[in-house]
Amino acid sequence: MEADLRLAHLYPKLMNLYGDRGNILCLRRRCQQRGIALTVDELELGDTLDPNAYDLIFMGGAQDREQRRVAEDLLETKAEALHQAVAEGVVLLAVCGGYQLLGRYYRPAAGEELAGVGIFDAWTEHPGADVKRFIGNVVVRWQGGTLVGFENHGGRTYLEPGARPLATVISGFGNNGRDGSEGAMQGENAFGTYLHGSLLPKNPRFADHLIAQALKRRHSEVALSPLDDALEERAHAEAVGLAKKKLGFLRR
Ligand code: GLN
Repeated sequence: MEADLRLAHLYPKLMNLYGDRGNILCLRRRCQQRGIALTVDELELGDTLDPNAYDLIFMGGAQDREQRRVAEDLLETKAEALHQAVAEGVVLLAVCGGYQLLGRYYRPAAGEELAGVGIFDAWTEHPGADVKRFIGNVVVRWQGGTLVGFENHGGRTYLEPGARPLATVISGFGNNGRDGSEGAMQGENAFGTYLHGSLLPKNPRFADHLIAQALKRRHSEVALSPLDDALEERAHAEAVGLAKKKLGFLRR
């Protein structure tokens, strides 16, 4: 397949927790194995985003300190372009701290509330540094099957009517540890999640869902050739098995 895709990686130096950069490596490899050339531009503080130049946009997670540094820059240099890109069907994946900053607002454990970009109709509040963080392995049910990952966040995210959950929690905390939701979807092409890990290597069907959507938008209908995902599926099944064992233990 002769095709190419262009990805904008937002703030890789400041927002890259628990292997989030692995999502880029996974997308690059899954494209390369299919003859799709994936180019990646890294956009940091002060860099502007051209909404017409990309097919995919990725933003990883970060601690409150880095989020505070990024929040203002997001609004000043990238917010308008992000809204335009998402409205025009560019595929967006934002993980944890990135997901939070692309909502309406994020109130960190301490200090001023951070205004969000408002891509996701959702808001996040961190109850305070002394309150239990949501940490651990997570298994959720997504429309395309289960997703597995690792979460570590203090913020609790609540969805408003304009957003819908990416998935429902099978094991772990998810958005807020209360309503059973995990992540958010805005339309069909903007995905927010708390799943680090990194997310995509152990969730090949979700990775291909993102690639296929980006290809369809750029090169009209394109069928993705199947890859040998035996290793990825084994890692996925291991994580699901561990969660079931933990749930079984907890239910006794
Ligand atoms: N600092 C945010 C929180 O604690 C996000 C953390 C993260 O990206 N893992 O909720």
